[in-house]
Amino acid sequence: MTFVVNAVYLAVAILFILGLKAMSSPVTARKGIMQAGLGMIMATAITFLYPNHEGSGLLFFGQGKTINLILTVIAIAIGGGVAWWLGKVVKMTDMPQMVAVYNGMGGGAAALIAAVEFARHENLSPVVSTLAVLGALIGSVAFAGSIVAFLKLQGIMKKTWRLPAQNMVNTVLALVAIVLGAAIVLLAGNPALPAMLVGFFVLSLFLGVILTTPIGGADMPVVISLLNAFTGLAVGFEGYVLGNPALVIAGIVVGASGTLLTQLMAKAMNRPISNVIFTPITGEAQAGGGEIAGSMKELSGMDAAAMMRYAEKVVIIPGYGMAVAGAQHKVWELTKILEEAGVTVKFAIHPVAGRMPGHMNVLLAEAGVPYDMIFDLEEINDEFPTTDVALVIGANDVVNPVARTDKGSPIYGMPILNADKAQSCIVIKRGKGAGYSGIENALFYAENTSMLYGSAQQAVAEIITAVKTLV
Ligand code: NDP
Repeated sequence: MTFVVNAVYLAVAILFILGLKAMSSPVTARKGIMQAGLGMIMATAITFLYPNHEGSGLLFFGQGKTINLILTVIAIAIGGGVAWWLGKVVKMTDMPQMVAVYNGMGGGAAALIAAVEFARHENLSPVVSTLAVLGALIGSVAFAGSIVAFLKLQGIMKKTWRLPAQNMVNTVLALVAIVLGAAIVLLAGNPALPAMLVGFFVLSLFLGVILTTPIGGADMPVVISLLNAFTGLAVGFEGYVLGNPALVIAGIVVGASGTLLTQLMAKAMNRPISNVIFTPITGEAQAGGGEIAGSMKELSGMDAAAMMRYAEKVVIIPGYGMAVAGAQHKVWELTKILEEAGVTVKFAIHPVAGRMPGHMNVLLAEAGVPYDMIFDLEEINDEFPTTDVALVIGANDVVNPVARTDKGSPIYGMPILNADKAQSCIVIKRGKGAGYSGIENALFYAENTSMLYGSAQQAVAEIITAVKTLV
């Protein structure tokens, strides 16, 4: 039977890798999700039927190893049911919070596996107990950190706390947790072990909280991705502890892809990962930056329509505001009308526009915008000087020129879309407020920028109506 179980795990590994590869392009992403999902169903089913790697399990009652069938079925029903329901009701704009929660559950589950293994076995081998402790530490940090990330993204935790000697406190806590973990490995069978385990878990969870609370604003996506990589690592370690190849493979895949994504996002924001964790953008820093000269100039929907209708090239820059207003269908309608009038229209996507990587690509694809009209930052940035109108729809931080010009700004050095270099720039937003990071945007005050105030959906509808009246 071991052969069949191993063969299924191998098929699962292949499906995970194929799925991940397919998810790297919007054209094949749906297929990738189905492949990875099928892999996960197969992994769950084979573990359910043969919970012990040696081949004993549900179908092998009487061989001394059984599982608690009723509890397992109840857990699968609750977990699967909640995930199914959330998948249906959660809005696209709330997806990062959902990712944070799922990620936290993965880390928490890995930590619990370690706790159960220590409770079940008096004498784990040094290798197994070392990996169990490492998985428990990383999993607990990922769990607690993800819950804080969820509370922040959901707007429940609004404040960003930072202790006076935060980095020192973090380092000391991490060291104490590591020493306690080493003691757990070395003192196997000691009567004080249960107390040490409780202390170790409390400390690890606290470390997750204290590492994440000072981080806010624009750094949150990087943190979620990093915690995701942590969860993968923890799951991989606990997979080894349980002797379950599917867990090891899934953990490695999540850990590696999470690490790569974290690096890519940190690069897109020009912030080293160490900088995100140890010197995050705090409330006070957000208020920083130099004074911005100029004033905001308002224009009407008709003026905006005329500027674009008689332009040769328009580049549309969508951001979080387009997502929250659900304006992508109207934006595509406007694009088609402009193209029919002979205007070249392109979309420029910043890697961290919106609230999750690929957020804008997903929304535009959903509205029917062809992939060949959508360009990444590096592909399109040189085109702005030859662009007649840059239309910014609910984007803010990703077009803020202070990132290029103001060394005192917390986002200094982050690559931005050069909307300010277009001949003219039109910005659609509801009011004069700042973006996600809380930093004033110099683009809004620029000579060639005009503001069209209103919710994205209604403002774009206004432009569409006006363009239709122009010949
Ligand atoms: P921002 O969050 O910086 O700005 C959003 C803009 O949209 C604001 O100017 C807001 O102004 C406007 N807006 C909000 N609602 C509406 C609406 N209904 N209609 C029209 N406009 C609206 O968005 P960006 O996309 O430019 O930047 C993303 C930010 O989020 C970055 O700082 C990034 O680091 C961070 N982030 C990114 C994640 C990712 O992975 N992509 C995840 C988490 C955070 P007003 O209120 O006046 O309308």
